Amino acid sequence: MKKELLNELFESYNDYKATSIRSDFITHQELKDKITLLKQNSLFTVEQIGKSIERREIYSIKLGKGKTKVLAWSQMHGDEPTATTALFDLFSFLSANDSFDSLRNSILQNSEIHFIPMMNPDGAARYQRENAFNIDLNRDALRFQSDESQLLWKYTEKFKPEFGFNLHDQNSYYTAGRSNNPSAISLLAPPMDHVKSINYTREKSMQVILKIREALEQFIPGQIARYSDDYEPRAFGDNLTRAGIGEILIESGFYRNDYNKDFVRKLNFISLLAAFETIIEKDYEKLFYADYFEIPGNMQMLFDLLLRNLKLEFNGRNFIVDVGINRTKKYNLQKLEFYYEGTIAELGDLSVFYGIEEENLEGYSIQSESELKVDEPANFQIIKDGETKYEVVNGFLKSR
Ligand SMILES: [Zn+2]
Repeated sequence: MKKELLNELFESYNDYKATSIRSDFITHQELKDKITLLKQNSLFTVEQIGKSIERREIYSIKLGKGKTKVLAWSQMHGDEPTATTALFDLFSFLSANDSFDSLRNSILQNSEIHFIPMMNPDGAARYQRENAFNIDLNRDALRFQSDESQLLWKYTEKFKPEFGFNLHDQNSYYTAGRSNNPSAISLLAPPMDHVKSINYTREKSMQVILKIREALEQFIPGQIARYSDDYEPRAFGDNLTRAGIGEILIESGFYRNDYNKDFVRKLNFISLLAAFETIIEKDYEKLFYADYFEIPGNMQMLFDLLLRNLKLEFNGRNFIVDVGINRTKKYNLQKLEFYYEGTIAELGDLSVFYGIEEENLEGYSIQSESELKVDEPANFQIIKDGETKYEVVNGFLKSR
């Protein structure tokens, strides 16, 4: 996609943003309300394709009359809603009429795109990764025990798309390569076997990914990563690659200060439009697929909070330790609000790592009623000259 067009899309995004839904949370009811509105627009064909284990409706939204078939589904992990919300921004973009008409008309005339937003509504209702009986749908593409996995597989078999977009969220501790740059977006052309063979199908996915990277690079330089391509025989992406579908995994990661995921949602919008355009124009074919491996790997180099050089007293001796703390975002279904659970992720020499927030506390000591331990809640005091200077409460650093 041309740079000028990308810039215009980036600048105009707010005109299409479905502002009634937040980027980090969407209920099944909100989804249904949004889909009901789409039904009133002749551009969209809405179909209820099945139900989840707990009988929540799952829909596909179809548009376009062209010959290139594309499928995109989101939120097969219930607590990964960013892309679901971005899809509604995309629907609002595709149904508008304005200076972007040539792009949207080209997409609508040359492709047939089916979207399945919120593949795992039961998991979404619990704000958890797994489905209603607590299995990971993305590890059920061999045994097909859950209704949702069966539905997705049957849908792809029937529709036979050329490309399939599998849309997820990933944790904030991933970085683009060995750096302190969080991966805002990470991308994967899933492998089809343990030796990570590259056939024509996978090569095409890699080339489209290179186009997505090219589109994003000017907005988030150095913050795009290549997701691990270890083969997972039970995952959808790997099996769909085997079945000849050009699979593209997009993971919405963390962008600094974007705790509500509004910016990463916008990056999804840009990524998908850039991908659809190149799939139609076929200009991805000009790229050398192996440049895909130049994209920095998705690495785990970050903690949410990293406290360096603290003194730890044990058995009357003093030791120097760094404390790496991660905060897990959880949802309280009674109070309808998010909360964090801060735990100690690692203790010891963490000098090779980085913190989204970090503090050098040389000369300060840890004071704690219970032993500091990995995987335990992060609550302790930090003292100097006998006085409490800081407090770590549930993974957050507070000065006293
Ligand atoms: Zn996921």
